[in-house]
This record gives sequence, C-alpha cells and structure tokens, in this order.
Amino acid sequence: MLVCGACGDNWMKVVKSVELGPTAADDEYALQILSCVRCDARAIGRYTESRRGALGSESVHHFGYPVDRGAASALLQMLNGGDHEAIRAAFAPHMDEAQRFRVVYRDG
Ligand SMILES: [Zn+2]
Repeated sequence: MLVCGACGDNWMKVVKSVELGPTAADDEYALQILSCVRCDARAIGRYTESRRGALGSESVHHFGYPVDRGAASALLQMLNGGDHEAIRAAFAPHMDEAQRFRVVYRDG
C-alpha cells in the first residue's frame, strides 16, 4: 500500500496506471489515479524512473498531486481511453507542484 498524502495512513492504492514512456528524460514515465480507501482522497500519481546516470545509479521519483473526486473520475476515463497525448494534456494542469506529496510505499 501507499501512504496517503491527505490522512497520512497507508491506505492509498493505485486505481489505474498508464505507462507513457520512455521520454527524453526518463526511461519510465507513468501517470496514475490514486485513491485512499480510508479517507476517500484522490490524487494523481506521477512515476518516473531513470537509469541513465552512472552505472548502478537509478533515479526513481513518485509524487502525488491531490485532485477532487470529479477531476479524478474524468482523468480516470482519460487513462482508460489510452490516447497518450490526450492523457498528458488532461493531467498537466492538475499537477500543482506546491501541492504535491512524495508517494511512499509501506508494507501491510
Ligand atoms: Zn487517506
């Protein structure tokens, strides 16, 4: 499970994840819809992974951006639609850097 950016408990799950990479900067690039089982918060997930540094170095970034339920369900439909350009365009305005939280995995 993931730690929820809203309630801080480890009840956030990935509802849907679509791989859009590789990009110019990242080997893996995925956009996701996250949902908290406990407090019902919704967020966009942005996962990037780069293996282009020095040998053995790996850079993984996973951030969440809170969105309201209406936006989350509209974006989920975009993910299900599978049009990568449309997905990027729809998600971009919702990814507010000031609101983001680091997505942390926790067992259990
Ligand atoms: Zn929560």
